[in-house]
Formats: sequence, structure tokens, C-alpha cells
Amino acid sequence: MIKKLFPAFGTLNSILIFDEHALSILEEIKKCMLQIHQKFSFFDSGSEISQINQHAGIHPVAVQEDTFDLLTQARYYARETKGAFDVTAGSMSELWRKAISSAHLPTKEQIAFCKAHCDINQLELDKAHGTAFLREKGMKLDLGGIVKGYAADKARSMLLSQGIQNAQLNFGGTVVAIGKMQKVGIQNPYQKTGISMASIVLKNKAVVTSGSYERYFMYGGRRLHHIIDPRTGKPSCSGLLSVSLIGENAAMLDALATGVYCLGKKESGSILRRHAISAVFVTEDGSVQVTPELQGKISLSR
Ligand code: ADP
Ligand code: MG
Repeated sequence: MIKKLFPAFGTLNSILIFDEHALSILEEIKKCMLQIHQKFSFFDSGSEISQINQHAGIHPVAVQEDTFDLLTQARYYARETKGAFDVTAGSMSELWRKAISSAHLPTKEQIAFCKAHCDINQLELDKAHGTAFLREKGMKLDLGGIVKGYAADKARSMLLSQGIQNAQLNFGGTVVAIGKMQKVGIQNPYQKTGISMASIVLKNKAVVTSGSYERYFMYGGRRLHHIIDPRTGKPSCSGLLSVSLIGENAAMLDALATGVYCLGKKESGSILRRHAISAVFVTEDGSVQVTPELQGKISLSR
């Protein structure tokens, strides 16, 4: 068994290969993951995403095909979640990131401005010219809610193309089980990273968790965290501590997990059924609830 750890996407990522294999593929994957990290970064002023943000309301920006494709996918998931997952929420997520790191609440005016500058329908994707354009100044793209899933899908296909059959990826809560049956833990929101609340045994699936327990601060009894509900412009309070989605495509699960977290358990039922996705919800009172097909398949940790 070999394991590689590397920091990217604001988290620590691991690739675990169960069979004996040359290490060179791991280096190659790490390199590719760092390229993805940089390319879709909100923070790197040279990234294609930053270029689109800097030219919001000014002019369209030519982007590479993979960026165009990821933005097209992201727009689809925004529409699927009725805007609960929205990559144009960048000014909102930035506002709250600053609030969380400084422990100072933003003003009502700032929240209203950011909320008014989040609208997936104002993201113009021109296939003929290969350009992306945010129509209004002040709008910002943030791909933080989908990029780890996108990267994990890419890493999986690189492993498979090298004939690697049994492996597990964990990109900060975005887990992909490749090949043999594997146990995947669902993070305990009350414990430090790596301690599970429940686990499930599965093969050839992705398990993606979105939660409010990692980056947050408490303010007046409320948990202020990094998943922002575009409907309110504030950290989501849908009654969940976390949601884990189980399915095939990690990018899809990543986007939908962020959206489902905002929508809450009840409102997300039809989306999950439509895409044949199973879910584990950890509610604010600490209870674990699962979609019907997972009944009896989840083991709770003691
Ligand atoms: P994590 O990155 O912690 O695994 P998520 O996949 O839920 O969790 O992504 C959260 C990130 O997505 C935030 O840090 C922010 O960059 C961005 N984001 C926050 N709220 C939304 C939203 N409603 N829609 C799309 N992206 C969001
Ligand atoms: Mg996500």
C-alpha cells in the first residue's frame, strides 16, 4: 500500500493505492491536481477565474476548454438546485470569509450588495468564441464548491488509465473509492478531522461531504460558516451540520452537496431522487438520518 499526501484546494488531500505500484503516477497526479488548484483558484490573481472576475461587466474572457466545460457543468447544477449552489456567489463567499477570519459581521448593505450580485443567469458562456463573461461589475465566480470533486474525478481517471484498480482518494471530505470494497467514514462534526460519526462499506463510488463544522465562528449563538445561502446572502441555516452524498460523479456530488446543504433535507429530496443519489444528513441536534435505500447500510460509530 502506498499513500501520498499533498496540500491543495485549501485542505490536505490523500491518495491511497492498495496495490504495489510505481510512485511516478502519484507525482504525476499531484502535479495535475496543483495545476487544477491554480487554474480554478479564486485567490490567484492570474487564474482564469480571477481574469473573469476582474473583467466582470467589462468584457468576455477567453478560457480554455476545461474551464468552459466546468463552468457549463456548474451552471447546470445551479439550475438543478434552484440557485442554492451557485458559482456566481463569489462576492458573498468572500464577504463571509473575511467576516469569519476577522470575527466581525458584515453590514446589511454589504450583504445586500453581494446578494444582488449573485445570479447564474448573468454568467454568459459563449461556446462559439470560447469565452466566459459575468455581465455585471461586482460579480465574482468562486468554484470552491465544485473544484475538489472535479479534481477527484480527474485523479480517478488518471489512476484507471494507468491500470491501477484499487485505491481511495480523499480530498478534504471528497472521497472516491476505486475498485475493491472499502469502508468510508462520515466525519463526526463534533470531533477533529478524521474521526467518523458513521461509516459505510462500498465500492466504485464517491462520497462527498459538505458541512458547517470546519470553518466557522460562533456569533450570538449562531454558527457563521463558509456555505452561503444565495437566497439570504448569509451562512446557511437549514438545520444541518453536514450532508454526505453518495453516487458516481464526484464533481456532481460536490456541487449538489453544497446546494443540498443550503436547501436542507426536505427540500432536496426530489433532486436526490432525480439523480439517484443517496444521502447521510447530520442534523444540528446530532442525529444521523439517511435516505431510504441506505437504511441498514450505515454503521454508527460509538
Ligand atoms: P468544502 O470546500 O468545505 O468541502 P463545499 O464543497 O460545500 O465545502 O464548498 C464550500 C465552498 O464553496 C466555500 O468555501 C465557497 O468557496 C463556495 N461556496 C459557498 N457557498 C456556496 C454556494 N451557495 N454555492 C456555490 N459555492 C459556494
Ligand atoms: Mg461542494
